[in-house]
Amino acid sequence: MGELKSHALVLRTRDYREADRLVTFLTREEGKVTAVARGVRKTKSKLSAVVEPLTLGFFLLHRGKSLDTLIQGEIVKPYRKLREDLLLFAYGQYFCELCEAALPEREPSLPVFLLVLTALEALESDSQPARVARCFELNLLETLGYRPAMENCQHCGSSTGPFYFDFINDGLVCKNCPIPGESRLLSGAAAAVMKRFLNNGFHRLSVCGVPSSLNYEIAHINAELLKKALGKSRFKSVEFLQSLEEWS
Ligand SMILES: [Zn+2]
Repeated sequence: MGELKSHALVLRTRDYREADRLVTFLTREEGKVTAVARGVRKTKSKLSAVVEPLTLGFFLLHRGKSLDTLIQGEIVKPYRKLREDLLLFAYGQYFCELCEAALPEREPSLPVFLLVLTALEALESDSQPARVARCFELNLLETLGYRPAMENCQHCGSSTGPFYFDFINDGLVCKNCPIPGESRLLSGAAAAVMKRFLNNGFHRLSVCGVPSSLNYEIAHINAELLKKALGKSRFKSVEFLQSLEEWS
């Protein structure tokens, strides 16, 4: 029992019983935690604004036997710009879906918490949301222990592209070395961008030009890597972005 006081990001909410919502939080202290927010679908609820998706807040949760209950909450950052733009909101939701799929309940992961907040900040300021998404995907993979080997060819050490991306060993193989069975052609430029995203994170991201052809290449590699790492390849937010033709 007891209580948990923590900064947390609202990853997802869904209706529960008549007037409640089940809220999936990514808490700073204890990782992913699901709690019931009672009465928040009633118009007079004081808590309804703090459990909107993509809200960073400070929350007090009461531990229950099977389910925690939200007692109090205050907004720390509402990510208003993301809320007011359908496209940016969908990208933000995608980041939340990835975090939800990546983490088990109640396993603290401060690196993932900090990474997603950095990514949401970048999404608010960057003119290319797809670039932020590719950078987030790769850094999430690294944080979870699935960093692909992007430095040079895994066999001969060559740093000259084009490469094949080898999905057995998750890294580059150059065109002069034996082509791996499960692989995909990757341009030298796309490999360089992926390497930069992994080495520099979101630092000065806006100076890293990612034309749509490179975004397309990187998105396909990342999707395969995420499928292997998370065991999940369908995301509602991606289907929505695809419907807007805002995906690779
Ligand atoms: Zn080679």
